[in-house]
Amino acid sequence: MQRYFASLLDAEHVQLTKDDEHHLLHVMRMKKDDEIEVVADDKLYLCKIKSANPLDIYIVNEIKSDVELPVNVTLLFALTKGDKIDLVVQKATELGVKNIALIQSERTVVKYDNKDIDKKIQRFQKIMKEASEQSHRLVVPTLLGIYSLKQLPKEAFSDLNYIAYEKEAGDTKAAFADVDKNKSVSILVGPEGGFSEEEVNNLVKQGFIRTSLGKRILRAETAAIYALSVLGYLLEK
Ligand code: SAH
Repeated sequence: MQRYFASLLDAEHVQLTKDDEHHLLHVMRMKKDDEIEVVADDKLYLCKIKSANPLDIYIVNEIKSDVELPVNVTLLFALTKGDKIDLVVQKATELGVKNIALIQSERTVVKYDNKDIDKKIQRFQKIMKEASEQSHRLVVPTLLGIYSLKQLPKEAFSDLNYIAYEKEAGDTKAAFADVDKNKSVSILVGPEGGFSEEEVNNLVKQGFIRTSLGKRILRAETAAIYALSVLGYLLEK
């Protein structure tokens, strides 16, 4: 069934965004009495169209759904070239991430102009909303913002904070040994050129745990997707 993120108008009615209204009426061609699923305030509802013009959608009942990870997972991802961030934002959403922050580090080659930032953020938010709908999530992840690695905001930190570091020996299972479903987790992934030793040392001083993601060097986007897959596996077992 078609699903949308929307807001509650009152206890019995929901309101879609203008874009979704258009999608519902003109792309899906839905009519009076058609049913849709709507997520509002982190809850899932079965809804029915009472009238198409003006659009009036009412709640039939709440549907129980348990698709979110048991704790918040935050991805801190260094800015990378091209449209890799689009891919990572989409896949991270599918894998259940709660927050994403984009990071500028010493070896980050990509710099966003101030004038581009708002547009980029809107684009990432659109990708996250569509991916959340597609993977039937109850929340759209939050894009915390774009930060310098030297000044991570406190929202970037979780109960457990990991830095994916390719020079760390050992296996991923051992590295993530402390993961459990009562502790929120942040995972930091570096840019194409990796992190400098100094950066890693500073992060360790701030409480980050160095983590290997296996024996092969992964591209940044693969590292992010792999790390989130492993965390999902460990948290949902
Ligand atoms: N330029 C570096 C690799 C950087 S890979 C080199 O060639 O040595 C980009 C990012 O992916 C890294 O900063 C790290 O966060 C992550 N990464 C890639 N492979 C990894 C691995 N095997 N273990 C841990 N992190 C890894």
